[in-house]
Amino acid sequence: MSGRYELYSFMLTVLDALPERFLDTPARELHRLLAGPTLIHLPGRRQTPLFISVLLHGNEDSGVVALQSVLRAYGKRLLPRALSILIGNVAAAREGLRRLDHQPDYNRVWPGSDAHTETPEHAAMSEVYCLMQARGVFASIDIHNNTGLNPHYCVISRLDQAALHLSLLFSRTVVWFRGLAGTQTTAFSPLCPSLTVECGKPGNPGNEAHVARFIEACLHLAQFPAHAVHEHDIDLYHTVATVRVPAAASFGFGDALADIDFDPHLDHMNFRPLDPGTVFGRTRLQSPLDVRDESGADVAAEFLDCLDGTISLRRAATPAMLTLDRRVVRQDCLCYLMERLPYARHQRVAPELCESV
Ligand SMILES: [Zn+2]
Repeated sequence: MSGRYELYSFMLTVLDALPERFLDTPARELHRLLAGPTLIHLPGRRQTPLFISVLLHGNEDSGVVALQSVLRAYGKRLLPRALSILIGNVAAAREGLRRLDHQPDYNRVWPGSDAHTETPEHAAMSEVYCLMQARGVFASIDIHNNTGLNPHYCVISRLDQAALHLSLLFSRTVVWFRGLAGTQTTAFSPLCPSLTVECGKPGNPGNEAHVARFIEACLHLAQFPAHAVHEHDIDLYHTVATVRVPAAASFGFGDALADIDFDPHLDHMNFRPLDPGTVFGRTRLQSPLDVRDESGADVAAEFLDCLDGTISLRRAATPAMLTLDRRVVRQDCLCYLMERLPYARHQRVAPELCESV
């Protein structure tokens, strides 16, 4: 390891070469090489860097495995484009967890966050943001896994053609969502084409290989196409609500004693268009779930019915990220509700939205 920079954040390490043994060290062991969040700048033929963050959630390691395989294949050869890598939460990765109980979520602490602004994690990610801005970042990719049954898809927070083109290098399924302040993608979107990759469950070699091919394609991308994305190439969704279980409510999946007893096969509904009346579960509570739109407004009454103890959809919607992992439900959310965004409408609304987002 050669260069080390003076930093404002005591938590962040910045390197200009890969640490020894990095390419062969599994995510759970990276804490042996890295003291905390670490930004690694690697040179390439084109100098404006691609920025990739991995392991912002410690149990989501497909991005690490994919990066390692891409970099191993290059060996000592120069990359087609400079690459800056952020390795996020190695302490949580050691435990196989999204985050440790005393830590903020590493994907809610980026500039623009309305919480955690006094934490060292926020200072570290703000520093990463400034360093990448100074280097004229070409594009930004944040790689995640999820715990439910979901297709591979991208999440963008800003509807612009370059971000859509970047998404299509990974998947034709693209979700537009502006509701999460402090995510890596939301922070970088004003700077460069930015997206989050959701590549299914961790520990699956097929998922890792797909991400590796995507990284390779991004490294070879010279510029973004000038033409618009074709309608028949993209399945575009808009996230209209986030569903959470209130902290005071107990819940389970097939647990009749819990305050809320969800369908034990709930995650089979991901990315399926559901009709009004579709049942999510049973409850003894009056208003069992917290449902918020992109601006944070309470929209539970618009999306859910709770009649005679049965929780059902009040209007048609397509869920994503439904998970049976109780810890993830507590730390993140139960699911997102989406609707298909007709491409014609997207083209009509995009220009003013791109200005305002
Ligand atoms: Zn994640």
